[in-house]
Amino acid sequence: MGITDIADDLVRGLGGIGTGLAAPFSDPVVRLGVTGLSRAGKTVFITSLVANLLDRGRMPGLRAEAEGRVLSTFLQPQPDDTIPRFDYEAHLAALTGSEPRWPESTRAVSELRLSFRLREGGMFGPLRGPRTLHLDIVDYPGEWLLDLALMDRDYAGWAEEVLERIAGRAEAAGYLAALKGIDGAEPLDEPCAKALSERFAAYLNAARAAGYSDCTPGRFLLPGELAGSPALTFAPIPKPGAAPRGSLWREMERRFEAYKTKVVKPFFRDHFAKIDRQIVLVDLLGAIHSGPRAVEDMRRAMAGILDAFRPGRSGWLTGLLGMRRVDRILFAATKADHLHHSQHAKLTQIAAALMREAKDRADFAGAGTAAMSIAALRATVEETVRHNGDTLDCVRGRLMSGKEAAFYPGDLPDTPGQLLAAAREGAAEWLDADYEVMNFAPARLSLKPGEGPPHIRLDRAAEFLIGDKL
Ligand code: GDP
Repeated sequence: MGITDIADDLVRGLGGIGTGLAAPFSDPVVRLGVTGLSRAGKTVFITSLVANLLDRGRMPGLRAEAEGRVLSTFLQPQPDDTIPRFDYEAHLAALTGSEPRWPESTRAVSELRLSFRLREGGMFGPLRGPRTLHLDIVDYPGEWLLDLALMDRDYAGWAEEVLERIAGRAEAAGYLAALKGIDGAEPLDEPCAKALSERFAAYLNAARAAGYSDCTPGRFLLPGELAGSPALTFAPIPKPGAAPRGSLWREMERRFEAYKTKVVKPFFRDHFAKIDRQIVLVDLLGAIHSGPRAVEDMRRAMAGILDAFRPGRSGWLTGLLGMRRVDRILFAATKADHLHHSQHAKLTQIAAALMREAKDRADFAGAGTAAMSIAALRATVEETVRHNGDTLDCVRGRLMSGKEAAFYPGDLPDTPGQLLAAAREGAAEWLDADYEVMNFAPARLSLKPGEGPPHIRLDRAAEFLIGDKL
C-alpha cells in the first residue's frame, strides 16, 4: 500500500462518517448515484424524479407514499460546498414551460439534496415523532466510470489496444491519418501533442455520435473543468523501438499516468466511493436503432460500467471503498415512451440480459440488482393504427419540428438472445428487422396541483432504489 493509498483511506474513512450520519444533525443520508453514458437521460431523469417526489400524485408505486407515510418533501441547500448544485429549477422550467424543450445534458458532476419528513410505519409508528431522511442525488457521466478500466492499464498496452480497435472505423480515419509520419522517439513537440489529442478527442466524439460506447478516456468527451490541461493532452500512439526521455512517446506515457492519478482516482475517491444506491441509465433503444455494432459496443460499455460496482475489481478501488458498498443497482432502459407498452417487457428483457451478463462474471457481493424500462418524462401517447390490413401499436408525439406524428418503432424480438447474438457476431445490420427512433419534443403539460410530470415506472424505479429507506 503506497502513501497515496493510505491517504485515500483516511479521506475515505472520514467521508464515511460524514455521509452515514450528517453531523451535526445526525439525520440519515442516502446518496443516490445517477449515471449513464452521455444522452442516456440522466438530466431528464433527475429533474422528473425530483419533481415527482415533491408532488407525488403520480407516484403510487412508492410504498411509503401509498401508505401515507410521506408527510412532506423539500429541497435543501446542497451539502457539499465544492460540488455544483444540479440546476433543477432551470431544467424543470425547460421541460414544463409553454414551449417545452429538453434541458441541457450532464457535463460534469452535480448534486442535489431532497429531504423527506416521514411518519414511521407499524402499529406504534404514529406514537413516534416524524423522522427526516436526506436523499443526496449525485449526477455524473458514465464515461468517467469507464475510465476505471484505464487504472490497471499501462500506456503502451492501452495505446496498442485502442489503435487495434479503431483501425477499421471510419470515424477514426482522420486521427489515423494524423498519426502517419509521427515518430514517438522524436523529442516532444507540444503543438504536435496538442494536435494529436484534439484529433483523438474529435474521433471519440464522432464515435460517440455514431453510436459507439467504448469512448475513453472519458474526460476527452466531457472534460468538466479540465479542458486543455496537460493531463488531457495525450493520445494513443504506436510505441517506437526506443523511446528516450523527453520523447513524444515518453511524455504521452507520463500524461496518461497523470490522467489516472490526478483525474480518474480523485473522481472515484470524492464521488463514486460515497454512493449507496445507483441507477445506471441506458439508451438501449438508441443503440438498437444504430445497429448491432452499437448494441455490442453498448454491451461492453455497460459491462465496464457495472465492473466499477464489483467489489474486489481492483485493488486500489477496494482500498478506497473499505467496507462500504453500493447495495442496490438499478439498470434502466430509458425513453420507453418511444414504445407502445405492449413492447416494454421485451425492452426490459434485453436490459436484463445485458445486466445479467455483467453479473454472471462476478456477483455484486449481495447488492440487490434489477432491470426496468422507464421513461422519466413521457412525451408520447399510445395509438393503434391500421396499416395494410394489420394493426400497429404506435406512439404519437410532437416532433422537434413542432408537427405531431404517430410512429411505429419496429417490433423487438421476443427473446433478447436473438438480438444480442447478432450484435456479438458483429453483424453489420439487423437481419430481418429495422428499428427506428424518433426525436420527440417534450409534450406541453398542464399539471394539476400535487402532480409531477407524466412518466413511465419512475415510481417503481424510486421504490427499488430508496423504498426501504422511507
Ligand atoms: P444526459 O446526457 O444523460 O444528461 O441526457 P439527457 O437527460 O439530457 O437526455 C438526452 C436526451 O434524451 C434528451 O434531450 C431527450 O431528447 C431524450 N430523453 C431523455 N429522457 C427522455 C424520456 O423520458 N422520454 C423521451 N421521449 N426522451 C427522453
